Amino acid sequence: MSDAAAERLVAGKRAEEDAAELALRPQTLDDFIGQKQVRENLKIFIRAARDRKEALDHVLFHGPPGLGKTTLAQIVAREMGVGFRATSGPVIQKAGDLAAQLTNLQAHDVLFIDEIHRLNPAIEEILYPAMEDFQLDLMIGEGPAARSVRIELPPFTLVGATTRSGLITRPLRERFGIPLRMVFYEPAELETIVHRAARVLKMEMAKDGGAEIARRSRGTPRVANRLLRRVRDFAAVAGHTVVDAKAADEALTRLEVDVRGLDSMDRRYLACIAENYGGGPVGVDTLAAALSEQRDVIEDVIEPYLMQLGLLMRTPRGRLLSESGYRHLGLVLPKEQKQQLDLLARGGQADEA
Ligand code: ADP
Repeated sequence: MSDAAAERLVAGKRAEEDAAELALRPQTLDDFIGQKQVRENLKIFIRAARDRKEALDHVLFHGPPGLGKTTLAQIVAREMGVGFRATSGPVIQKAGDLAAQLTNLQAHDVLFIDEIHRLNPAIEEILYPAMEDFQLDLMIGEGPAARSVRIELPPFTLVGATTRSGLITRPLRERFGIPLRMVFYEPAELETIVHRAARVLKMEMAKDGGAEIARRSRGTPRVANRLLRRVRDFAAVAGHTVVDAKAADEALTRLEVDVRGLDSMDRRYLACIAENYGGGPVGVDTLAAALSEQRDVIEDVIEPYLMQLGLLMRTPRGRLLSESGYRHLGLVLPKEQKQQLDLLARGGQADEA
């Protein structure tokens, strides 16, 4: 990710995780707010596995960054009463790195692999028998002296997280017994999260202040927590003891987070489609080049929320700005684009993915 994206206030991706963020992590399934369906499913599968005294089946979380995948993986281990180890796809460079993680597991432990879609394909192949039969086949040595050894592993639970399940190869995806999709949070859920975080941070927060931050948090708890801390700074300097809607709005406006939670990068993205490409359709690679931004960041961080708000559509021919997308920029939808959008609405060929 580029530095600019890493520094984005509303970026869902993890910045340096500080102590404050750790303190904000919910510890149990009952503490965890939102993602009702995911929570209910997990509760049942965890209870069943515990009753049978077995390891929980492998779990795959997919959804945009910052929605609580890592948090839930930790909660799974805690609720199962087992150990937790974490790594990530790009960190596992060699077969030995994965072997070290796997052979250190105790029976029923959780191994969490973040960004699992970025695993090197050769490593992925080693993971298949480990997941299926709890066996590790490794090649020792090189050339004619090379031989393969088989190591038995204790039964364990692999919890994978990915921003898009479409990026995971089919053989890997099929080995997860419990695939779970995370969705953006409702404003009311985020409001509860903001108020809880404010209590942890010992901030005085008025009801409407929490609602204002929640509405502008891109449906993402990590963003909500981050905005909350920045609002706290502004409020402290401005001398507000209680953060109400007005104080929150002042701070968020200065941070260039608009009323729907879009920041300057989101607006640049929308404006680029409107002004440089006549509202689209335009391919994601073209947009990435025009904005000097990585394609991954555009697809994982920027676009999902804009689509959720209905400002943007992904079609087989490229990205297309909707009428509300134009309206958000304060522009009027050109007549030719309106025809194109009407046609699309009738044909229903917009790609939801
Ligand atoms: P992901 O792994 O999906 O990128 P994380 O699990 O790291 O997301 O969560 C990001 C931050 O948001 C964490 O600091 C966590 O405290 C907070 N968070 C996530 N989900 C919730 C939730 N349901 N309730 C409260 N806080 C949450």
